Amino acid sequence: MFFHLTELEHHPIHFDVNFAPGEIDLGEELAQKGSLHAAGTAELLPNTLGEIRLRGRVEASVEGICSLCLEAAGANVASPFDLFYRPAPRKTAHAEIHLEEGEIDLSFYTGDGVQLEEAIRDFVLLSLPMRLTCSEDCLGLCPHCGSNRNTAACSCRAEQVDDRWAALRNL
Ligand SMILES: [Zn+2]
Ligand SMILES: [Zn+2]
Repeated sequence: MFFHLTELEHHPIHFDVNFAPGEIDLGEELAQKGSLHAAGTAELLPNTLGEIRLRGRVEASVEGICSLCLEAAGANVASPFDLFYRPAPRKTAHAEIHLEEGEIDLSFYTGDGVQLEEAIRDFVLLSLPMRLTCSEDCLGLCPHCGSNRNTAACSCRAEQVDDRWAALRNL
């Protein structure tokens, strides 16, 4: 869904869309579970900057890889968004863009408007934790033998302790 400037000049555009898995590219490491729902409004702000505001709400479930045990890890996004897009500055201007604090949701668009799918993708990816985990108390992989400590109790820890006592006994 593309929000074209020429249409936004006349009126805001409301959207209420369900995206099937694959319609929004979340990258190779994330799989979308079920449909992703995005609803809200796109409007051209009444300033001379050509600024487009996208606000609404997004709900999505994704599955990635647990950063600790490498098994599947799910995450949900259910969040309001309020995003601002300005026309990308022309490359010839050599102007450095200084974003004011609090303007973290400001992005730039090139061309004649903003693509909803791209905006939603960026927002969902930013909303997810940097490192997914399968559960809050994931035990991770054993650094010695590599087995998943959530499912198999290896004996590495016990052996280490034994080694330490053995070293003491030799003193
Ligand atoms: Zn895990
Ligand atoms: Zn082990």
